Amino acid sequence: MPRPSRRRRRAAAARRRSAPPELHPTLRQLWDAVDTSDHTLLVEVPRTRRAYFAGRFEVTAVDPEGRAHEGVIILNLRAIDRASTGPAAVRADGFIPFEGLGRTERYAEVLGHELAHAVWHLASMERARLAQRLQGQVEEQARMLLAAGAGSGTGQVPQEQVEGIEQLARELEEPAETAEVATWEELRASRRLR
Ligand SMILES: [Zn+2]
Repeated sequence: MPRPSRRRRRAAAARRRSAPPELHPTLRQLWDAVDTSDHTLLVEVPRTRRAYFAGRFEVTAVDPEGRAHEGVIILNLRAIDRASTGPAAVRADGFIPFEGLGRTERYAEVLGHELAHAVWHLASMERARLAQRLQGQVEEQARMLLAAGAGSGTGQVPQEQVEGIEQLARELEEPAETAEVATWEELRASRRLR
C-alpha cells in the first residue's frame, strides 16, 4: 500500500485532534442502547411540586413479540434540585448522589440511573413483564398498607410478600446505582475538559 501523502497525514492528524473526546461514555452507551432499539422510551418531566422521588422508570406496554416495548422515564426536576447532599444522603457504599454537581449535571446523573433500568428491563420480554408485575405489586402493597393504617382491617400484607418484593427491588437497584456512580464520575471528570 502506498504511503499516504504528507498532506493527507496532516489532515488525518487534524481530524483526530479536533474529534471531541467522549465526555460521558456511560450515559452515551445507555442512550444509544435505547436509541438504536425498536423500543419506545418517553422522558416525562411533570410539573408537580410534590414529587418525593427524583426519577423513575416504568414499562407502559409489553410487545407480545418482544421487539418493541414501551416505557417512560419520569424526571422530577424539583425533587432533584432540592435533594440534599448532607450526611443523610450518603448511601451504604459511601456514595453521595449529586455531590459537587451543578443543576443540569444532577439531571444527567438521574438520567443515567433511569436509563440503566430502561436498558435492563427492555432487553427481554421476561424483564419487561417483571417491571410491569413489580409496579403492580408495589402499588397494591401501598394501597393495602394505607387501608391497614386507616384501621379498616381490610388489608394485611403478608410479611414474606413484603420481604420478597423488597429483596427483588434491591437487586434491581444495584446495576442502576452502578451506572449512576459511573455517570457521576464522568460528569465530575469532564468538568476539567468542558
Ligand atoms: Zn432505581
